[in-house]
Amino acid sequence: MPPIPGSGLAKGLAVTLRTMTKRTVTAQYPDVQPELPPRTRGVIGLFEENCTVCMLCARECPDWCIYIDSHKETVPPAAPGGRERSRNVLDRFAIDFALCMYCGICIEVCPFDALFWSPEFEYAETDIHELTHERDKLREWMWTVPEPPALDPAAEEPKEIAAARKTADKLQAQEAQTQAAQEAQPTRTAEQEGQE
Ligand code: SF4
Ligand code: SF4
Repeated sequence: MPPIPGSGLAKGLAVTLRTMTKRTVTAQYPDVQPELPPRTRGVIGLFEENCTVCMLCARECPDWCIYIDSHKETVPPAAPGGRERSRNVLDRFAIDFALCMYCGICIEVCPFDALFWSPEFEYAETDIHELTHERDKLREWMWTVPEPPALDPAAEEPKEIAAARKTADKLQAQEAQTQAAQEAQPTRTAEQEGQE
C-alpha cells in the first residue's frame, strides 16, 4: 500500500508534541550545580594526621597510582626508664587521578580512617601532570568531605568517639590539676615569707 501523503509529517509532529509535554531532564551544568548524592566518588581527601604510613592503600591500589615516601624517626621514651620508639613520618603522599579508576579500595582498606571520598569533581586539567594531587591538595579536599549520616538514636556510641572523649577528659583533668598547683604556689611562698 502506498504511503498516505503527509503521514510522515504527522508522525514527526506527534513525536514533537509528546516530547514537549514531558518533564525536561537536561542538566544546565555549569550554570546550575548538580545535586549529587553524599556518597559520590568525586575525589579522594587525605586526613594525614590519621595516616601511620602503613602503606596498605598503596599496596592494594590496583592501578599503583598512590605514591608514598616516608622516613623513620626515633621518639624518646614516654616515661623515664622506658624504651625509645621509632615511628614513620610522612614525606610525600600523592594520588595520580589520571590513573585512578575510583574503585575506592584504598579508602576501604585504610585501617586508620585517613582517606575519604569527597563529591568534588571539578578538577579537570589541560596538563595531565596536574592530575597528580600532592598531600596539600589532598588535604584541601578533606574539607569538602560531607559529614557522615547521623547515627540511629538508639545506637551505641562509636568506639573512636568514646576513646577521644576519654582522652579529652583526661587532658582536661591534667590541665585543671596543673592550674590548681600553679595557683597554690604563690600562696605558699607568701606564707613562707611571713614565717621568715
Ligand atoms: S580509588 Fe582505586 S585506583 Fe584510585 S587510588 Fe584508590 S585504590 Fe587506587
Ligand atoms: S592505608 Fe591509610 S594509614 Fe596506611 S598509608 Fe594509606 S592512608 Fe596512610
